[in-house]
Amino acid sequence: MSDWHIDYTSYDPAEEKLREALCTLGNGYFATRGAYADAAADERHYPGTYVAGLYNRRVSAVEGREVENEDLVNVPNWLPLTFRIGDGDWFSIDAVEILSFLQRLDLERGELLRDVRFRDASGRTTRWRERRLVSMGDCHVAALQVELTPEDWQGEVTVRSTLDAGVTNGGVARYRALASRHLETLDARDEGQHRISLRVRTTQSRIEIVQAARLEVADGATAAAEPAVRQSPDLIGQEVRVSTGEAPLRIEKIVALHTARDPAIAEARLAALETLDRCTGYEALARQHAMAWRHLWDRCDIGFDGPGCNGEQRKLRLHIFHLLQTVSPHSVNRDIGIPARGWHGEAYRGHIFWDELFILPFLTLRLPHLVREAMRYRYRRIGAARRAAAAEGFRGAMFPWQSGSDGREESQQLHLNPASGRWLPDRSHRQRHVNAAICYNIWRYWEATNDTEFMYGFGAEMFLSIAQFWGSIASYDPTTGRYDIKGVVGPDEFHTGYPDADADEAGGLTNNAYTNVLVAWLLARARDVMDLLPPDRLTEIMELTGLDETECERWHEVCRKLKVPLLDDGIISQFEGYENLRELDWQDYVARYGNIQRLDRILEAEGDDVNRYKVSKQADVLMIFYLFSAEEVTQIFEQLGYAFDRQAIRRNVDYHLARTSHGSTLSLVTHAWVLARSDREHSWQLFQRGLDSDIADIQGGTTKEGIHTGAMAGTVDIVQRNYLGLETRAGTLHFNPLLPEGVEWLHVRLQFRQHRLDIDVTPTSLDIRSRPEVAPMIDVAYRSHYRKLIPGGRQRFALVSPSARSGSRTE
Ligand code: BGC
Repeated sequence: MSDWHIDYTSYDPAEEKLREALCTLGNGYFATRGAYADAAADERHYPGTYVAGLYNRRVSAVEGREVENEDLVNVPNWLPLTFRIGDGDWFSIDAVEILSFLQRLDLERGELLRDVRFRDASGRTTRWRERRLVSMGDCHVAALQVELTPEDWQGEVTVRSTLDAGVTNGGVARYRALASRHLETLDARDEGQHRISLRVRTTQSRIEIVQAARLEVADGATAAAEPAVRQSPDLIGQEVRVSTGEAPLRIEKIVALHTARDPAIAEARLAALETLDRCTGYEALARQHAMAWRHLWDRCDIGFDGPGCNGEQRKLRLHIFHLLQTVSPHSVNRDIGIPARGWHGEAYRGHIFWDELFILPFLTLRLPHLVREAMRYRYRRIGAARRAAAAEGFRGAMFPWQSGSDGREESQQLHLNPASGRWLPDRSHRQRHVNAAICYNIWRYWEATNDTEFMYGFGAEMFLSIAQFWGSIASYDPTTGRYDIKGVVGPDEFHTGYPDADADEAGGLTNNAYTNVLVAWLLARARDVMDLLPPDRLTEIMELTGLDETECERWHEVCRKLKVPLLDDGIISQFEGYENLRELDWQDYVARYGNIQRLDRILEAEGDDVNRYKVSKQADVLMIFYLFSAEEVTQIFEQLGYAFDRQAIRRNVDYHLARTSHGSTLSLVTHAWVLARSDREHSWQLFQRGLDSDIADIQGGTTKEGIHTGAMAGTVDIVQRNYLGLETRAGTLHFNPLLPEGVEWLHVRLQFRQHRLDIDVTPTSLDIRSRPEVAPMIDVAYRSHYRKLIPGGRQRFALVSPSARSGSRTE
């Protein structure tokens, strides 16, 4: 099977929603799930189309309470395209006998193909060959092309194409009790010349969305007459009746989509019609689309091969493909963040979390302007973050755990435990560590790009405003002589408070080690950020944020005296009091439940509470070793006045890994990363599972609600930063490759300081080629061997053998 294709060779209704998510087509502006063109939302199918960052709020009554949620809106379904023979039933994939079947996601060209031969109830054999795209060339365009071949019959066929605004947000079973209708239909029109249009508006955010569609049906040489237009309140359709002979019937449906928020338009309907009229036909669109994808692959492809490999190359490409469909050059200037679940479904409501931490490294090294855009999305909401901090009595800016349209906290107040059927208070908003992640992202982006416009313009202001928040949330404890951070939840979302704490109390934990280590790092780094600013800009920011020398001195103090709870033997405690929790009998739970990834739900359904146990949903303490090299961790601990023995890293990994259920796919990425140099085999297994997160839906049902962008980008990042040992430090690109057993070749394309680089690694060589560009010379280094690389130049290094090279990422 080609490494560019994801193929399905039989129809499997039970898997259909998963495939829809995996076969979603998108372009960073909008995305459409890979549902059948004839399908409506039901038990088997869930066609959904989402415009990036287009949200709507609704209030729902749950358990006698009113809860408000902001959702990514399922906009009208533009896909419907079906046919019937004579006056028979409309075609449905579920009502025919399938004779042969191929569904192919072509990653290289960005098309979804279906080739189905089937026999209907009257014994007639027909072939449906479909191509589909959501254009990466023109982000407002999508298209379907169908070749319908009557294999053993002749007769009249009616083709029907529809735009359907009768949709709701019904893609996530857990949310079904909540208000789900987000659209009101404004009008639907017959626009003449084979065109129809549909105009809707979201009920609360009042964003107008317009789709315009053109249907062309040709039986061999002759084009059919103007279609008949049919309407019902939330739907507009076109029907064309033609006589078929033996020749295939060619059908094309071209769709344009605009919203009133698009830049450079006069009005959405006008824009949609103009866009539609510019589209000549499927073939021309497919050419433009394939070219846009070729350009993206030329920057982003990864090669991966060796005798120990089995499909990794294809899975990595699938991951890159979906990342680029989520965030692409079309995302620029649209004020959208990078969602945790792509624009592929309704899970987590299209919200933006800390997952950027896993996603941005992939983009920073390829399409850095998209990282800047993601940061700008945050920066535009700094006002809301300042207000959120002030509302809780803190200084600076406190960004929300879940972010949507206007930057307020969008985490749900109540969530449903499907295992018990109970609605429970949701404490995940206490994950203030998202604010540390934003600072970390700012700093790493700056290190990699030296983008002064970004740093002076808004990066530094965001960094320092967040530092202000951390400086003010830390409280001094004279009995320990240390600072504490209280009331937080760490990345491990299982622990939201202390056992038996009042469930209605806001709770949270004291001194989550991950949070505190990051805060110690960022408060120290804040001084570097101030030092690199031109004096006038620094003065502006200080005036703007009310920052003064006393506050900076306090940061200096806090970053040396924050408490990091430690257990025996150098084991970092997840939080203060963790040592008092009980051990769980893992074997018993595995024996009883099989899949125990969501132990929080299992225990709650048993009337117990996960807060009582030493069990984590995902890497928490170990995130420290994911984000920082051994040197950096040692430095941070030294700064904090704790002795830290590097040998303790492995003990920490073993201790915490044994207590983690991997209830988040992010956990696999982190663990594969931290084990990559000390236990290559185990790391490789976790990497494999990370690669399977979505394609094999390892969580047993979450992928159909949306892909996991963090795990997708994280696995790609493991290849580039971990297997290649790639780091950007002080303007130099450092390499220290160590390939997994059985992998004999890696190829990575990336951009560093205006150089476009092709990098090939084998077990014995590292070959770096710069494409001809106008760019200043850069430094590249392999294990302290520094060399200059000019644009168009090449540097080759002979690698020392792996046995001489275990240990930390940065020896
Ligand atoms: C994870 C979070 C993550 C979120 C969105 C949750 O299941 O626990 O760490 O940010 O999903 O991906």
